[in-house]
Amino acid sequence: MDKSSLITNWQQVSRQVIEACRQTVSQDKDSQKVVPSKVTLLAVSKTKPIEMIVALAEQGQRDFGENYLQEAIEKITAMQELSENDSSKSNSIVWHYIGHIQRNKTRDIAEHFDWVQTLERDIIAKRLNDQRPDELPPLNVLVQVNIDDEESKSGCQPKELPSLIEAIKGYERLRLRGLMIIPAKANTDAFARTQQLFNEVKQAHPELTHWDTLSMGMSDDMEAAIASGSTMVRVGTAIFGTRD
Ligand SMILES: *Cc1c(COP(=O)(O)O)cnc(C)c1O
Repeated sequence: MDKSSLITNWQQVSRQVIEACRQTVSQDKDSQKVVPSKVTLLAVSKTKPIEMIVALAEQGQRDFGENYLQEAIEKITAMQELSENDSSKSNSIVWHYIGHIQRNKTRDIAEHFDWVQTLERDIIAKRLNDQRPDELPPLNVLVQVNIDDEESKSGCQPKELPSLIEAIKGYERLRLRGLMIIPAKANTDAFARTQQLFNEVKQAHPELTHWDTLSMGMSDDMEAAIASGSTMVRVGTAIFGTRD
């Protein structure tokens, strides 16, 4: 894909997100004011070349998601070098890890990323906490929930969520931000159930002051997800084209 098509796609997806937000107006309970919801667009750049990331960063895209650790670290390092040479480029990129977390790779993740969206076990949370470098801010984390209870899917079971949250709460180098799901295809009910789960945790844990992120919705279903309270959509194909 050439650069101008990439930018056109990104502009179109950005407009779709804004329009979906405009149609989803949420009630702010404290102020009794009606406020439009805010949604972050995460550009999922896995398998795509660094030039595409640079092109979107120049347009103002901040958040990028990667699934494959080795590929991601190469891109993160390259972007850091670019920003050292030219501070107008890419120095404000926020990197999200959205792939499966292997136990022996937690150090690399803790050292390179700003967010991890695929946390599903305490043992991994503890390792990320212990391995997060002191000079970096706490690592933002989302718990991935297996909302459809699929055998093949990652994520903790909804019933495991309370104890996992208790554990993560105690880790000072992690900042627990919310939930992430990858629903089964054609299951829009999953969005509503996850929103309910998200709100239950919020009410049960007023001490979780950073609990503000519900990551759901991808290229094909981002509008439905936003209508159910998503605050972050993860979009790959609709921006970057199909993957090989
Ligand atoms: C690849 C991926 C996406 C993007 O999916 P598209 O259908 O290409 O938009 C979103 N979330 C996760 C976890 C992914 O692995």
